[in-house]
Amino acid sequence: MTKIDFNLRSDHIEPIQEMLVPGLLNIPVRGMSLKTARGKKLEKGAVVAQHPGQGSADVHASLAGKVTKVSFAYVTMLPGEGGGVAPVDLSSVDDDKEMIRTLRRLGVSATPLMESELLLINGLNPEPGVTSAEALLAHEKDILIEGLSLARRLVKPSRCILVTSGGPEVQGLGDCEVQTVRAEYPASIEPLLIKAITGKENAEGTAVLDIHALWELGMVATTGLPVTEVVVTVGENNWRIPVGTPLRHALAEGGLECAEGDVVRLGGVMRGEAAYSLDQGISKQCRAIGLVKAGEVAPVENVPCINCGECVLHCPARLMPNLITRYAEFDRFEDARKQGLDICFGCGICATVCMARRPLLHLIRFAKEQVRTTLDA
Ligand code: SF4
Ligand code: SF4
Repeated sequence: MTKIDFNLRSDHIEPIQEMLVPGLLNIPVRGMSLKTARGKKLEKGAVVAQHPGQGSADVHASLAGKVTKVSFAYVTMLPGEGGGVAPVDLSSVDDDKEMIRTLRRLGVSATPLMESELLLINGLNPEPGVTSAEALLAHEKDILIEGLSLARRLVKPSRCILVTSGGPEVQGLGDCEVQTVRAEYPASIEPLLIKAITGKENAEGTAVLDIHALWELGMVATTGLPVTEVVVTVGENNWRIPVGTPLRHALAEGGLECAEGDVVRLGGVMRGEAAYSLDQGISKQCRAIGLVKAGEVAPVENVPCINCGECVLHCPARLMPNLITRYAEFDRFEDARKQGLDICFGCGICATVCMARRPLLHLIRFAKEQVRTTLDA
């Protein structure tokens, strides 16, 4: 069986560094409604696109500058002269529904902020090798506490628990109760976190806020300004990076040299996706940027399953990934659903342990997307 490091804990976390401003921004806007146009000069924090989904957040110019290109996927900006938008006075927003709307306009997703009995703060690093969550807990506590105060107001929990790995630099968060779990992936996946703390699967009345979302909330609560930065692990360190920063710039600043044949990975080793271009701009959802050197790992290929059963043994949702993906491969999405496609966590463990190197996670994501856009539409 493949030897894999599932450890989520980082023992040495340096303070988060501020990245140098890039010479160009490619702000991701795919699936959103554009609110700017080519040639427009924008202040830092101006809205560039609005998300149509309930609870989803708007996207803003992360630097002042001029829009030079607009496509379905990106708004390209040249940073330049200009100020920033005026802050919103959140203390004057009394009504909770209005507060949710205001937060969405400021770039915070409201989905995890529904009223719930129990509020869990997911303080675990999302994946092995990604240290941004613990770095935030170790170095941005004041901002997190501001975020927690606002989250508590909206969620109204009777109990609030910070879930951590118990790492040496990770302590509590204000007066929030603290519980530690075994820091081994996939413990950071939401349904498993809920199970570990409450003992129940799909516990009703439980809201989960990950530490990055709490940090965004805290930044907005502290400044009244839109979310325009993301905290990302690049190489060994963590950086505050303007949304839309091209990967080329982030890699160079992070000390990663991309050579011919290397693959840039967006996210961790379990769930990360290959970037398609070094000009690709960093999205708000990005938690890590890694480099897979040419020849370092065997590529995934559409090869037949050898029925070794490793994926079944390791699946934390107790599914049969080999069957789900075979159905997905042949467009039999209803059959994939009957095998539990809808309850798959998308953790990527099946793909990581597959010694045949079948593209299991790709097939699962493909099937979920097909179900979302065709069967459930
Ligand atoms: S991604 Fe694979 S291992 Fe993870 S829950 Fe889904 S089927 Fe199971
Ligand atoms: S999909 Fe991969 S891990 Fe699963 S049974 Fe087939 S070869 Fe083995």
